[in-house]
Amino acid sequence: MDTLKWLNLTPQLSDVDTWAKLWSVHDDPSPHIRCRICDGYQQLRDSSKPFVHSPNCKLMGGQSRFPWRDLLWIAGNVQEAY
Ligand SMILES: [Zn+2]
Repeated sequence: MDTLKWLNLTPQLSDVDTWAKLWSVHDDPSPHIRCRICDGYQQLRDSSKPFVHSPNCKLMGGQSRFPWRDLLWIAGNVQEAY
């Protein structure tokens, strides 16, 4: 399967600047990512599940369901680029 499809990434979400506008990373008390819009969060151990936004969050749906996988993909590509 195409890697980009598997990650549910779009070109807009494939760079870390764009990613960081949507999400913030925290490690207290355990690693989790927060949505900057609705303040929903997801633990690292739930990274294979779709992110749960607030019902009225504008990031609901398509491009913003797997922030951990997006981040790992971005990190992998940054390594290869240098
Ligand atoms: Zn949200």
